[in-house]
Amino acid sequence: MIDKTAVSRRIALASIGAGAAGAGVSAMAQGRPPVDLGTVLNGKVLFPPPAASSEVQPSPPRNADAPTQRVGFAIVGLGKLALEQVMPAFAQAKHARPVALVSGSPDKMHAIAAQYGIAADACYSYADMARLRDNPAVQVVYVITPNALHRQHVVAAARAGKHVLCEKPMAPSLADCHAMIEACRAAGVKLMIAYRMQYQPHAREAIRLARSGALGAVTLMDMINNQDQGDPAQWRQIKALAGGGSLPDVGLYCLNTARAVLGEEPIEVSAQIWSPPGDPRFREVEDNVAFSLRFPSGAIANCMSSYSTHRLARLTLMGSDASATMEHAFDYQGQTLRVSRLTDGKEQAGEIGIEPKNQFALELDHMAQCVRQNITPRTPGEEGAQDQRIMEAIYEAARTGQRVRLAQMPGLDRFRGPEPTAE
Ligand code: NDP
Repeated sequence: MIDKTAVSRRIALASIGAGAAGAGVSAMAQGRPPVDLGTVLNGKVLFPPPAASSEVQPSPPRNADAPTQRVGFAIVGLGKLALEQVMPAFAQAKHARPVALVSGSPDKMHAIAAQYGIAADACYSYADMARLRDNPAVQVVYVITPNALHRQHVVAAARAGKHVLCEKPMAPSLADCHAMIEACRAAGVKLMIAYRMQYQPHAREAIRLARSGALGAVTLMDMINNQDQGDPAQWRQIKALAGGGSLPDVGLYCLNTARAVLGEEPIEVSAQIWSPPGDPRFREVEDNVAFSLRFPSGAIANCMSSYSTHRLARLTLMGSDASATMEHAFDYQGQTLRVSRLTDGKEQAGEIGIEPKNQFALELDHMAQCVRQNITPRTPGEEGAQDQRIMEAIYEAARTGQRVRLAQMPGLDRFRGPEPTAE
């Protein structure tokens, strides 16, 4: 049978080569066709840049593994984050795939398993998590349950011999965090906390700008993460399940990002907390939190979180030469990064063009590569424990009205593994 596509393609190439002028002719003269056929290098197909060097060069797609070669993840807890963000993000991941589910809702689990091609015998109840050990396709267990359940699910995954990715906040107490770190250490598995901000391209660029000196000396940071909570009966409003209110849920993004910007650890915190009396959403957990962190370099971060004000997620880094503002900073998408500085005697503000990427996919791929290459995740359990330590100091500062000193922790990126690589 004649392959019509191949014929028409050959004719097209020949006709361009035979009749074309200009660039086509010069390409032919150099012994290559005037059409980009690509070059295979280390299993990756590369094309020459289509535009001149005055244009932005699109980054080539990252190497994607064949589906069967990817690191297998079991998803624990099929709630909103798992089903609306994480499961769809696997389609954009290059190294990770979902291979198992753990849930307390069998009907929901089997519906999701069918949707993602997960075998019925790779569906488990929470009580059955020890059986994950017998499933070699599962290399990583991703815990996405309410905060106070993280400890038991992380420990169960580690005991089953699996690496663990755990949602933020790591746990409601430092004692829980230490138990989770110790369980993973004893089992010889990795533990990563899902701080997606540290994998999100705009945030990474903001951090790079701050650390490179491009903004001058960064001495002030302003971070806000607010949202208006609905149903007072949901677990986020129940202290025994959530651990706290807006601070560990949304304020944590401000805290973790403020620490990541300069890589320093704060030495002092002050804080105020206020919850409207009589609002049923705040019977057990706090509403508005304003806290301030002081870093060894002298930099100060002012942070706010709220459970009763309209959604606002913004960060601003203020340096001696320029400021950088990221809008939708802690949202799932829609980030922009704008830098203002004096240029030729005039104040100029411009948006940095950054290719949007799915931050959940980047996070999944980072965990997968850490497992494969046996490296410490950028955001390991110790990173989550340090945030918990500081949140406990923030609560104390708000309760006592006094500044709380924190232990000095010299060095940069003290708790972090290596930066994620492009691949
Ligand atoms: P949901 O309430 O939407 O889902 C939680 C799921 O956990 C439930 O659907 C249920 O799944 C399972 N579960 C097990 N036990 C309980 C229980 N006692 N009460 C309630 N649920 C239970 O929560 P989210 O998906 O919004 O949040 C889950 C985790 O993810 C939290 O730690 C949260 O902080 C974090 N998160 C992180 C975000 C990020 O951007 N990184 C954003 C949103 C949340 P099943 O029926 O399968 O058992």
